[in-house]
Amino acid sequence: MIDYPAFRESVRDFLHEALTPELRRAGELTTSVFSDFDAALAWQKKLHAQGWIAPDWPKEFGGPGWDIQQRAIFQEECKLANAPSVVMMGIQMLGPMLMHYGTEDQKHHYLPRMLSGEHIWCQGYSEPGAGSDLASLKTSAIRDGSDYVVTGTKIWTSMAQHANQIFCLVRTDKSVKPQAGISFLLIELDSPGISIAPIVSLDGQVEQCQVFFDDVRVPCANLLGAENDGWSVAKFLLEFERGGHNFTIDVKKQLRKIHRQAELSPWGESTRAEDIVFQHRLAEAEIDALALEHTELRIKGAAETGGNPGALSSLVKVVGTELGQRLNELSMDLVGPAAGPQCLNILDPLYSGDMPVPEHALTTMAEYINNRASTIYGGTAEIQRSIIAKKVLGL
Ligand SMILES: Cc1cc2nc3c(=O)[nH]c(=O)nc-3n(C[C@H](O)[C@H](O)[C@H](O)COP(=O)(O)OP(=O)(O)OC[C@H]3O[C@@H](n4cnc5c(N)ncnc54)[C@H](O)[C@@H]3O)c2cc1C
Repeated sequence: MIDYPAFRESVRDFLHEALTPELRRAGELTTSVFSDFDAALAWQKKLHAQGWIAPDWPKEFGGPGWDIQQRAIFQEECKLANAPSVVMMGIQMLGPMLMHYGTEDQKHHYLPRMLSGEHIWCQGYSEPGAGSDLASLKTSAIRDGSDYVVTGTKIWTSMAQHANQIFCLVRTDKSVKPQAGISFLLIELDSPGISIAPIVSLDGQVEQCQVFFDDVRVPCANLLGAENDGWSVAKFLLEFERGGHNFTIDVKKQLRKIHRQAELSPWGESTRAEDIVFQHRLAEAEIDALALEHTELRIKGAAETGGNPGALSSLVKVVGTELGQRLNELSMDLVGPAAGPQCLNILDPLYSGDMPVPEHALTTMAEYINNRASTIYGGTAEIQRSIIAKKVLGL
């Protein structure tokens, strides 16, 4: 029988010791799913040394052997303590696929490097003409001896500017129906013929890139799964991408912030917290947050007994991201004009100059803008609704 309160205490003790003020500041100033990269990597190394970097992985591959409740406690305490987010495309997304589809050599080579942070992975699925309709992707991989020769481009590749590895969906057969001619390749980003162009987002930050492949030679040994079976690998992976995230923890943190902002933000002679319309909107969001929490617990409970999140992960993705955006709007309304200035330098964890906005409003605008993308990445809200209609409701 696990003593959960004692486990929570041990996590808190570790976080208290391991999180330096700079790392906590990086966590506090995180305005998207990604924290400052240097802080994220430094935090990854500390978690790795502790053996806690991959809470969801089985023990045989380097996981800590926690049950579902321990993992939730760990995530929650990390959020509460303002730990930076670790770049998750390797550990959360590719790792489970390697365990499932990888050869022994691939597992042996990639998994330890993923844990240590020696390999930073990015995800090369989307292309300029292939997003929601991913199966129409055109980047081609043609066999030439013991290599594939890859040509084409991937877009919206998060963190490609920091990554040194990319997992890609590529077309290996044009003569069959689109889904049947796709393969899954693991590619080193410093291979000759690859170039990376950063994309500056609306919030002024660079988190995504376009990656170009010009006759890039990739060893056939880097194929994950069978040739032309990449679609099965990709679909499995997407369910981890959508279902692996714990939205409730994010939502709870946003709600705590809103309550603090409501107290600190003046509005005429009273405060926003006393405004009846505001209270109504907040209460609605809190009710939805409870429903989300229960749904996530249900899904995770099923996962504990070996189930794949399946199409239900789409449900949580829609509700979690749309609720997050409503909470961003509440925050914006609360801080009002203080949300105005968009000063990227003050969001640098090492910034120590004057503060043009109050501390409680520092990240509000950047979070609001960045989080508009949450209903697009990992599959748009419209696409998720279609999946729910077909696979959950049977329509
Ligand atoms: C911040 C961010 C990070 C991302 N990171 C990555 C990454 O790391 N790796 C990666 O590979 N990709 C990444 N993406 C790409 C993302 O997966 C795609 O943007 C997404 O799948 C949508 O594709 P699209 O942009 O081509 O839009 P489109 O597919 O062109 O969609 C445009 C609009 O049409 C709607 N639509 C399209 N088809 C249908 C349909 N059948 N029914 C109803 N409505 C439909 C969509 O919902 C959307 O509103 C990222 C995107 C963003 C914004």
